[in-house]
Amino acid sequence: MTNLADYLTLLHFTPDEHWQHVLITDQSICQQCRDKPCLTLCPSGVFTWNLHKSEPVLVLYKQCIECGACRLICDNINFSYPCGGCGVNFIEG
Ligand code: SF4
Ligand code: SF4
Repeated sequence: MTNLADYLTLLHFTPDEHWQHVLITDQSICQQCRDKPCLTLCPSGVFTWNLHKSEPVLVLYKQCIECGACRLICDNINFSYPCGGCGVNFIEG
């Protein structure tokens, strides 16, 4: 197995339907963000740009693999770990 997409297929997710553990603090900041690194640096594709929405960065938190990278790249992303029993399960080590 050689690429990230293949590894991601091994993961199992238990989404928390009641609490979103990855949030954008202020979407108006995203409108002014030139490079939008969240769109390319999240390995699981959690952040998606949709210019036609009032909140342009969609956050698909249910597919987060909890790597923590977004905490390092942008102060406008509010990341916490999911509640116990929820989130990603690494079933292959
Ligand atoms: S979440 Fe951060 S990196 Fe992503 S568009 Fe908004 S300000 Fe830019
Ligand atoms: S913790 Fe990792 S997988 Fe989850 S949203 Fe942040 S960068 Fe993406």
